[in-house]
Amino acid sequence: MKTSNSIQKFLLQRNKEQSEAYCSPDATLWRLQYRARHATEIAALKCMDGRLNLSVLTETPPGIIQPFRNIGGQFDLGWPYFGILLNDWVKYSINRGRDCLILVTYHWSKGDEKRGCRGFDHDVEAARTYTRKLKEQIEFVFGSMHYVVYPIQVGIETDEDALVLHGADGSVLDLGSEPKNAEGDLTSQIKKLYPDMRERMVNDLLPLLVGNLAHIKKIRLSHRPIEDTEHKEQILAIGRGFDWLHLPNKALIIGPYSYNLGDPVATAARILLSNLNEGRIPKATGGVLMTSAAFREEVGAERTIAAEKAKSLAEFAMGTITEHVPELLPYLTSLTGVLNMETRLFTPL
Ligand SMILES: [Zn+2]
Repeated sequence: MKTSNSIQKFLLQRNKEQSEAYCSPDATLWRLQYRARHATEIAALKCMDGRLNLSVLTETPPGIIQPFRNIGGQFDLGWPYFGILLNDWVKYSINRGRDCLILVTYHWSKGDEKRGCRGFDHDVEAARTYTRKLKEQIEFVFGSMHYVVYPIQVGIETDEDALVLHGADGSVLDLGSEPKNAEGDLTSQIKKLYPDMRERMVNDLLPLLVGNLAHIKKIRLSHRPIEDTEHKEQILAIGRGFDWLHLPNKALIIGPYSYNLGDPVATAARILLSNLNEGRIPKATGGVLMTSAAFREEVGAERTIAAEKAKSLAEFAMGTITEHVPELLPYLTSLTGVLNMETRLFTPL
């Protein structure tokens, strides 16, 4: 194991800045005003790939879209922890009188198949089929709450960060090829895609699309170099509470949702190793295994349980890497801690 911790220092500094920004009066006001105008709770099921930041992609205040990340964006409501978490999130929303919009996402690159999703071996058709079925499973499970819990399938084209919305009847709205951005047009297109979606949810989906069109425009104007969309991750992040890490290509994030956590950890470790071996990140700085568990309440056992969870996850991940990708160990340091969801502040243990 390496002892150098320059990325650790970078991470802690970055988290401190992001937490201060999140709690700043301006950001708090932006978030509160946005929430007051758009009450729908939005969750995004997405791949661990570091390029997919929906808050940036849709120009939405951080903290509005609740991310659930796993390799390939692969989830199953039958998994022990994921089913409970999603149901808790739905109950939390319904208790506040809010509807639930769930973005079931997959990703690919239009310029090069190789820049697509490694979770599906770059096979975008497989990713589409998987996420369509996942959307159907969510519809089935929350069927009695139809209209209130509404999953939609969304593709993310990572060269231009464009969203592709899949409609109920198989039709598609590709924002990467959408020449217009008049809100009226988009509203009618959303209604065409999702004829049974309630008006208030249509109104809350709309700003994500308007924001994505504005973001695509900026990406095109900036002529973002294509290398920037290749894998360059340096951080293997495991657990929950990483949505402050708003840096594309910096971290591979794995949620603790399924029976099989070992495979995603080993896959992510292999990606990190190939980033090092192929010179996309310097061997001198190496990588970090960051393990985090999230809590909301400072009082009671929630914070202590989160700390125990983070420690347990760190031990498990290190064991998995030692067994399957030992070549990575000389380049890896470890950072374990808890995240306060109210402030986004990460505290190392
Ligand atoms: Zn992926």
